[in-house]
Amino acid sequence: MRVYVDMDDVLCETAASLCGMAEREFARRVRYEDVKHFDLQKVFSLDDGEMAAFRALSHSPQMLSSYPKTAGAVEGMRALAAAGHRVEIVTGRPASANCGTLAWLASAGLGEFPVAYVDKYGRADCFARSADDPPTFSTTELKARRYDIAVDDSPLALDILADWPETRVLVFNRPWNAAYTLAPNMKRVSGWKEIVREVSACNAQERK
Ligand SMILES: [Mg+2]
Repeated sequence: MRVYVDMDDVLCETAASLCGMAEREFARRVRYEDVKHFDLQKVFSLDDGEMAAFRALSHSPQMLSSYPKTAGAVEGMRALAAAGHRVEIVTGRPASANCGTLAWLASAGLGEFPVAYVDKYGRADCFARSADDPPTFSTTELKARRYDIAVDDSPLALDILADWPETRVLVFNRPWNAAYTLAPNMKRVSGWKEIVREVSACNAQERK
């Protein structure tokens, strides 16, 4: 099966790290469990100038390499690959974050998985581009890849995935998606053991 796996807050603990960064660098104290929105400008009460600085800092190679791994993510990715699934990392990060992203994946032992940069949040233009960056795909281009399963946490990405009826969507439980109303193709998962189980169950059903 072709499997789409999001990166931030699916493979690594991005929001918790950004809470720490917001406190250290911007004197904004918000607990991870209180991150109820995906809009970080709102969450941390940042003005536009602060948000630009926040965005640049959060995508710096230093920050990107510091995010802790999500529990069970590495073992889960390896289990999916070992079962013969074609697993791709599909991130809404800007393509300019490629170096830091690949460095993190290599250090986590996940360097063999391909990474696709997709403008999931309609903000690709907020970031400077360089000729060395990999391409950024549109969500239409992404849909054409026809994933059997997608794992994501962000409500904005889920809104896109709701229109992919042939894709089984696993919603990684996080405080900012707790109030999200699931579309018929979606199911919540609370961790990687459940993701591996669901992919395997989906695969068994397809083979019937
Ligand atoms: Mg995410």
